[in-house]
Amino acid sequence: MRKVQNRREFFAAVLRYGVLAGFAAIGVIAGVKSRRLVKEGRCVRGGVCSGCDVFERCALPEALSAKAVLDGGGDASGR
Ligand code: SF4
Repeated sequence: MRKVQNRREFFAAVLRYGVLAGFAAIGVIAGVKSRRLVKEGRCVRGGVCSGCDVFERCALPEALSAKAVLDGGGDASGR
């Protein structure tokens, strides 16, 4: 049996799903922006590579240095 939705339930549902759609849009925009910044050669986290979402595919100097250290080869300065 189909439940009839009253006006209050309707507006609550509109608000609930509107907020969910807003959060999803913010996540998508943040992802697109971080990809664009990395493509432009700009860091998205202030050079703190630990835990950065784009670390694996990042070719910025900070990331290359961190990868060299993680590989056990020291950093780019030869230390
Ligand atoms: S991996 Fe490092 S250098 Fe690259 S965007 Fe992230 S924080 Fe910046």
